[in-house]
Amino acid sequence: MSAIPAGNGEISLWMTAQADSEPTRPALTASTDCDVAIVGAGMTGLWAAYYLTLHAPGLRVIVLEAEQAGFGASGRNGGWLSHLMPGNRSVYEQGPGGRAAVAAFQRVLIEAVGEVLAILAQHGIDADAVRGGNLVAATTSAAMQRLRERRDADLRYGMADGEVLLLDPAAVGERIAISGAVGGLYYPCVARVNPAKLVLGLARLAETRGVTICEHTPARRIRPGAVEVPGATVTAERVLICTEGYSDRLLGDRRLIPVNSSIIATEPLTAGQWHRIGWTGRECLSDAAHTFVYAQRTADDRIAIGGRGRPYRFGSGTGGRGEIDQHTVDALARRLADFFPDLRFSVAHGWSGVLGVTRDWCAFVDYDPASGIGMSAGYAGHGVTAANLGGRTLADLALGRDTDLTRLPWVGHRARRWEPEPARWLGVHAMYRMFRLADTWEECRRSASTCALARFGARLAGLAETTDNRTARPRSASPRSASRQAQPPHSQHPGGQP
Ligand SMILES: Cc1cc2nc3c(=O)[nH]c(=O)nc-3n(C[C@H](O)[C@H](O)[C@H](O)COP(=O)(O)OP(=O)(O)OC[C@H]3O[C@@H](n4cnc5c(N)ncnc54)[C@H](O)[C@@H]3O)c2cc1C
Repeated sequence: MSAIPAGNGEISLWMTAQADSEPTRPALTASTDCDVAIVGAGMTGLWAAYYLTLHAPGLRVIVLEAEQAGFGASGRNGGWLSHLMPGNRSVYEQGPGGRAAVAAFQRVLIEAVGEVLAILAQHGIDADAVRGGNLVAATTSAAMQRLRERRDADLRYGMADGEVLLLDPAAVGERIAISGAVGGLYYPCVARVNPAKLVLGLARLAETRGVTICEHTPARRIRPGAVEVPGATVTAERVLICTEGYSDRLLGDRRLIPVNSSIIATEPLTAGQWHRIGWTGRECLSDAAHTFVYAQRTADDRIAIGGRGRPYRFGSGTGGRGEIDQHTVDALARRLADFFPDLRFSVAHGWSGVLGVTRDWCAFVDYDPASGIGMSAGYAGHGVTAANLGGRTLADLALGRDTDLTRLPWVGHRARRWEPEPARWLGVHAMYRMFRLADTWEECRRSASTCALARFGARLAGLAETTDNRTARPRSASPRSASRQAQPPHSQHPGGQP
């Protein structure tokens, strides 16, 4: 058992390390007006501000943030700048563009990784970015079978051969010495970042472009043309809502729920320990379990590993500054010990944060020209790259620009609303329980195929990618007409994590 770390919550280890160098931005105290008001200073809101001022210099943009820039998932995440699609590909495929539109979405996401890295370099934002790829390691035959199926699906949905590689156990070991690895997948395009450095660098960049960021200024009510904050009103022709996992608290429309994810970070490891582990390529690492974990080797040589924890708080609670409990610390530390049984480590910091999840696990970008209100959210665990794309797309929509981005399948996508409580709490917890049981069953039975419980859970939750295997075609007639076959979940977030 690992003790609860001295650093517990405090937003995150990443944010704590930046606290001294970060300016405090004053709250808005008097009513004002602007062209675009953005609610939420996470990656989505700040990317939207950046692109708005890029395409329309001189536009008056105000960002209203309830706490401080980077307070939400953007300052707490695992730092995977990845190609992973924020949603279930087979659901997007049912839109009018069919599979070709999903493939276009995938292409744009891969390009967006490069876009973010290029902007960081262009503006001298050091976010510890290393493009070391993503290694997904399988430690059971069932997990390896899922990885083969995931690769087939990746190729069907537009990835090229060289963008997703199957690895044998030796090839996994050459990258990272993971105990018991039976194989893996490798995605070269993925980069590791320090998310706090990224989001706070973005805030400073937006400010240099004339954007005003008001911290400690929570939006209380949003209506066409105005945002009400305590003691003041911001009048704005256009309002962009970028509150992701916090949205239900603000809007109360059950469109998104806050699903929790937790991370622990070790003390820095020694050169000798790293010598035994490898990981010289700084790959983003995950396993292929149903309740999977995600990890990175940080710039200061710690391992940050995230995943299991309390999945959902009754009534869409968002968990404040992210304290975690003993059970979560132990579960994550155990998983790290499974990867590296000989590693002696102590946990320096633990924290948690919330992801925005829609009822069909698909993200969306929306803009209504009549009301001037837009929103980009629901990335589940895949929001670091998607926030760039979402912010960029919101900017295009708000400026009336007709671009390739505004035709992607997540634009205007609508999922049904989440059930009211207590059904919502029961449903999410039951889903997690099923995935945990399925993992245990597969490990204990050394089974070669995915446990039926996980398949059932994935279908019930809307996570399974249900595809037909024919070539891409636009769908105009009934989306249900093709013969369809249920696949196990290829999505990387059967637990709502990245
Ligand atoms: C632990 C964890 C690990 C993750 N790991 C990864 C990863 O490795 N890779 C990946 O791609 N994705 C990951 N994600 C998801 C990713 O971090 C998010 O999808 C992304 O950061 C969302 O950015 P955002 O700006 O939309 O939302 P947020 O960063 O959550 O920002 C929303 C902001 O809105 C503010 N706000 C809320 N209510 C109000 C209000 N009423 N008025 C004003 N402001 C308000 C909040 O304070 C917050 O700052 C992870 C998430 C978590 C929690």
